Amino acid sequence: MSQPRQPEFPQEALEAVERFLSAPAPGVPPAVLQLLGTALHGNRRPGLMPRLFMEAVEQAPVAISITDTAANILYANAAFTQVTGYTQGEVVGHNESSLSDRSTPPIVYQTLWGRLLQQKSWNGMLVNRRKNGERYVAELTVAPVLDSAGTTTHYLGMHRDITEMFQLQQDLQNQKELIDSVVDVAPVVIAVLDAQGEAVLQNRAYRRLLFDLGGRDPAPLLRGVLGGDTLAAGSGEDAPRAARELRLDFPDGSTRWFACQASGFRARDGSADAYFTAREVPYLLLVAHEVTEIKRQQEEVRMNALRALMAEEALGRGLRETLSGALHQMQRPLNLLNAAVGMLERRSDGDDSLLSVLCQVRDEGRAALETLSACVPQEVQEPLLPVNLNQLIHEVLLVSTPRLLAESIVIDWQPQADLPSCNGRERRLRNLIKQLVDNAIEAVADGGGARRELHIASRIEGDFIVVQFEDSGPGIAPDLRFRVFEPFYTTKGGKHAGMGLAIAQDVVNQHAGTLEIDPAYRDGCRICLRIPLSSDNAQER
Ligand code: FAD
Repeated sequence: MSQPRQPEFPQEALEAVERFLSAPAPGVPPAVLQLLGTALHGNRRPGLMPRLFMEAVEQAPVAISITDTAANILYANAAFTQVTGYTQGEVVGHNESSLSDRSTPPIVYQTLWGRLLQQKSWNGMLVNRRKNGERYVAELTVAPVLDSAGTTTHYLGMHRDITEMFQLQQDLQNQKELIDSVVDVAPVVIAVLDAQGEAVLQNRAYRRLLFDLGGRDPAPLLRGVLGGDTLAAGSGEDAPRAARELRLDFPDGSTRWFACQASGFRARDGSADAYFTAREVPYLLLVAHEVTEIKRQQEEVRMNALRALMAEEALGRGLRETLSGALHQMQRPLNLLNAAVGMLERRSDGDDSLLSVLCQVRDEGRAALETLSACVPQEVQEPLLPVNLNQLIHEVLLVSTPRLLAESIVIDWQPQADLPSCNGRERRLRNLIKQLVDNAIEAVADGGGARRELHIASRIEGDFIVVQFEDSGPGIAPDLRFRVFEPFYTTKGGKHAGMGLAIAQDVVNQHAGTLEIDPAYRDGCRICLRIPLSSDNAQER
């Protein structure tokens, strides 16, 4: 607390302040005028009450000094003493420069004086030194005081110690920069959206993603996967949303996966309107963490499991085909035997030793057939579920990649984007597709032509999903177009049981679909698979 003192307010200074307030120099910050005005109890004409006015200036909370045109101090108020440590007696007659710490760049003073010489005020920061040698940051406003002829007669100086505020600002700035740089270098995609959905903060990973997406803003994509357009800052839900996976397809053809999360938060409104009402501004924080590598590893594990499963199923299918073939072949002699027994029974008088031998052979044959039938491995029972044929084709192609590469077959896979699902038995449909792809690979490999291509495309036609398989092999002759679907029919001889397309046809029938060879296609073989859409999807269309 400063000691109460008897203000020594020279008439000259009093008049200078009075003149200053009646016509402030251009550029004096309104806050300064308001400060002085408040100190003077709103009395802009202090000449009417000099004593009151003098006391008001004296007690103003800002360090006020009045100088001559060479900056020699004529008057300094109590706050000046408080800030600088110099009493009025110690500063009057001295130049303002005695406050200088000598660390303020000369350009600051040159600007200050440049403004004053133009009879304009100047406002800025400089470093002062108190009487005790302590430095402080001063926010200074200097303004010229003019006489009635427009000549500068005095200068008015008003300054306050803003060291603490400066320190706080610096700390705040440091903290902001620290947070900014941590957020910026964080290996996750971060964006903060305002209530209008505009990104008010984007980190480096976000900007990188924006670039990789060819300028397509990732924010709507992240919001879309987390809850659609309803997810917005201030939508009422501030609790973090459970992480969701987002698949992004990039213009360079690559696919990357992100685990995304969103949470809302509210920041205090710093505008003057919110000074008494404590308003809050809502924001939405979006965070996305790239999980492509994990996804790739998961996919690899899944594909290995799928490969093993498909190999096992192929083994079972092969066994089923072989045993069915054997049963089929054994049935023929048994039928003949049956016919012979029938003939002998009609002729014999009931005591025929040949007949009884034949009956015994027939019964043993039947028993052997039944035993063999019981050995045929049963197909795994599967429930009917929504199945995405694109996904199954993708899996089959991945499993078949080594074979395709070994045979130098070029694959052209054109899936319809957003293909709806069909209701089906996933394993059977996957095996059906595998069968068609295997047939195509074999046809191209055996055909030995220069073109070694397999085109697969999916599309929607009415209420059906159509998948077309075109290979550049020798094709199927028109007269065999239907025969190839018969059980045990093969054009390959020996190692093939001729059940592949028959089983494929069976699976298609189970799904109420069709499997046709296009008779018009001349550049190889084109097989068209049609599977009805699931009823939900069909109704929606
Ligand atoms: P100076 O020799 O004073 O001058 C530096 C520059 O200012 C030079 O370019 C010079 O040409 C120009 N200049 C100096 N005096 C004048 C003049 N009378 N007319 C035209 N140009 C001139 N400085 C502080 O460091 N702290 C303060 O708190 C402070 N308060 C001030 C309050 C008022 C009302 C005024 C008018 C000035 C104040 N000053 C203050 C500025 C101070 O007068 C000095 O100019 C400054 O301290 C630099 O001092 P110096 O001795 O290093 O250089």
